[in-house]
Amino acid sequence: MSFVESASRVDTLPDAVVEVAFVGRSNVGKSSLINALANQKQLARVSNTPGRTQLINLFRCDEGDALGTIVDLPGYGYAKASKAVRRDWPEMIEGYLLDRDHLVMVFVLVDGEIGPTKLDVQMLDWLRYHEVPHTVVATKHDKVKSAKRATRKNELAAGCRLDKGDIVWVSATKGVGIDLLRSLVRSHLSG
Ligand code: GDP
Repeated sequence: MSFVESASRVDTLPDAVVEVAFVGRSNVGKSSLINALANQKQLARVSNTPGRTQLINLFRCDEGDALGTIVDLPGYGYAKASKAVRRDWPEMIEGYLLDRDHLVMVFVLVDGEIGPTKLDVQMLDWLRYHEVPHTVVATKHDKVKSAKRATRKNELAAGCRLDKGDIVWVSATKGVGIDLLRSLVRSHLSG
């Protein structure tokens, strides 16, 4: 997986053969996860000032049969983001999610430690309503004690209104579930 470019607007994104996107609220662990998937430390910037960069980052995946683009959408719900950003985000991202021809899967990240937030649930409802194919990925598996994980997984699934088998739970820090998610991404990009 290699970095291609950043774009500030979806309408300037280059054409793609096939594309998957990652979306989630700021601080959910999206940059860390993309770095873990790519096996690189600094591919996507892990930020201490979440929400400051509102760029769309594109990565190319070119491995065996998997040839396509991974799109890292700006995190939503950052309280300190400017009004303009909070106003423009939904329109821009929703337009992208609805109109992008070659988008085959949206990975929605939910914090596995704190569970889905109101904004996450809104995003999932919206994707369901518009029938946009999506998969929920819970992050920060390592932050939940092992004795509590089974219960937490049930809670996560209930919060997202899914079966627990539908959720992939990963830890970018400990590498849990990364191989599985990478194969999922590749399988979508292999069409
Ligand atoms: P983003 O805003 O969604 O891109 O989130 P980041 O990747 O920047 O991560 C936000 C914070 O969560 C950072 O302090 C990360 O170190 C931390 N974080 C991300 N993934 C994990 C994880 O799997 N385990 C733990 N313990 N912390 C994580």
